Amino acid sequence: MDSKSIRQKFLDFFKERGHHIVPSAPIVNKNDPTLMFTNAGMNQFKDIFLGNQPAKYKRIADTQKCLRVSGKHNDLEEVGIDTYHHTMFEMLGNWSFGDYFKEEAIKWSWELLTEEYKLPKERIYATVFGGDKGENLEPDNESLELWLKYLPKERILYGSKKDNFWEMGDQGPCGPCTEIHIDLRTEEEIKKVPGRDRVNNDDPRVVEIWNNVFIQYNRKADKSLEPLPEKHVDTGMGFERLVMAIQAKTSNYDTDVFQPMIKFIGDACGKTYGKDLKTDIAMRVLSDHIRAISFTIADGQLPGNAKAGYVIRRILRRAVRYGYTFLGFKEPFLNKMVPVLANQFAEVFPELKAQQDFVQKVVLEEEISFLRTLEIGLKKLEQIRVNIETSKGSKVIDGKTVFELYDTFGFPVDLTALIAREYGLEIDEAEFEKEMAVQKERSRKDAATETTDWVLVREEEGVEFVGYDHLRAKSKIVKYRKV
Ligand code: ATP
Ligand code: MG
Ligand code: MG
Ligand code: MG
Repeated sequence: MDSKSIRQKFLDFFKERGHHIVPSAPIVNKNDPTLMFTNAGMNQFKDIFLGNQPAKYKRIADTQKCLRVSGKHNDLEEVGIDTYHHTMFEMLGNWSFGDYFKEEAIKWSWELLTEEYKLPKERIYATVFGGDKGENLEPDNESLELWLKYLPKERILYGSKKDNFWEMGDQGPCGPCTEIHIDLRTEEEIKKVPGRDRVNNDDPRVVEIWNNVFIQYNRKADKSLEPLPEKHVDTGMGFERLVMAIQAKTSNYDTDVFQPMIKFIGDACGKTYGKDLKTDIAMRVLSDHIRAISFTIADGQLPGNAKAGYVIRRILRRAVRYGYTFLGFKEPFLNKMVPVLANQFAEVFPELKAQQDFVQKVVLEEEISFLRTLEIGLKKLEQIRVNIETSKGSKVIDGKTVFELYDTFGFPVDLTALIAREYGLEIDEAEFEKEMAVQKERSRKDAATETTDWVLVREEEGVEFVGYDHLRAKSKIVKYRKV
């Protein structure tokens, strides 16, 4: 089954069961000061759960563009190194607002996975909340009983508060959740280690695919819990992981969600995926990061120097550096991936195709600007490595240097830390923060004199004929608003 059919089947399945299908909310969150990017399907329904807004439909399903690179969920360091955490991913979700509860949710999860998608039953695990004495929380025995209809006891595991109890914040709606995991190991490996007692912690190929949250309590200011009059279901399934399981792969990157992009990268740099780990990681990083970058720009978040804009710039620079060092892309390349991606997602997320040229230009501009300093910055880091190696000195890069790389060469601190780690070095982050604070104070004073609200982008790169022995770079300037 191809990924397009897999997505459609999810939506059809819940539609047949009375769910209203809604579009994905933007990946960028402009109206919520507590959250820069959408990080779960439920974000757009927050006000319903909080009781601030009535539910127009009792049952909803969708696929939601999510980004997990900041705040509570930050998976950035894993991306590309492992094969199932992405920066941007699709979260398939179904919701009940005061309508059906645990019984239907668990039954439908099981039915969809095993009867529609035909995933092997004997490879499925479920976790349920095991209770927490300290917090006075009961185990979720209801979910346990329900799962026993489908799964043998040894494949239902108790989980901790951290993994199996969901809370929106210190106060407000909360409840236990039950997660579904799938074992993607080979038969031989399973024979060697038949049971798993801690699901995805001990083997990366035993992967969490779906989380069903049962919102049944309200946490009050005094920390006590009261049952909610209306109980809700909030589920989220990682689309790319689901596709991996159905297509019987052991990496999300081996599915048809990522392969077109990986192939495009491979053709451009003349390398084949699957031959060398370093190259593979770089290809994964590029094929992942371009999605995060493109969809956030299309939804209105431009790369910039602060807050959400800087999150996007950091992802972009991380991708540029992986491409430069491991795939040999010395010229702007990421922007060329935008049309490929836009075509791939033309039906499900048409907003990218609609703004393809603009997104591509912004990415190109960012690449040009970072590539100007990347090489010198990398040489500097290489020199530091050599110095440390020959002097056998401290394995820590001092904060002043890290700041210089940031300020002069445009290296986000996490990128410097990443390269340092590859060299077996660390960075002095505390000293870097001090340098940053000094600079912030300086720019706070300068801000008073800032006069413009616009950033310039070159619209057309080209060459203009201005005389027999002179060719001049030609470019038009367009403006976009700063965010
Ligand atoms: P994990 O433990 O693997 O980090 P999670 O428990 O943080 O996942 P949830 O918050 O429960 O994830 O989100 C619901 C589903 O979204 C997960 O079951 C998983 O399939 C998917 N998911 C979560 N994070 C990512 C990610 N970074 N990339 C791709 N899919 C993800
Ligand atoms: Mg996580
Ligand atoms: Mg988890
Ligand atoms: Mg989870």
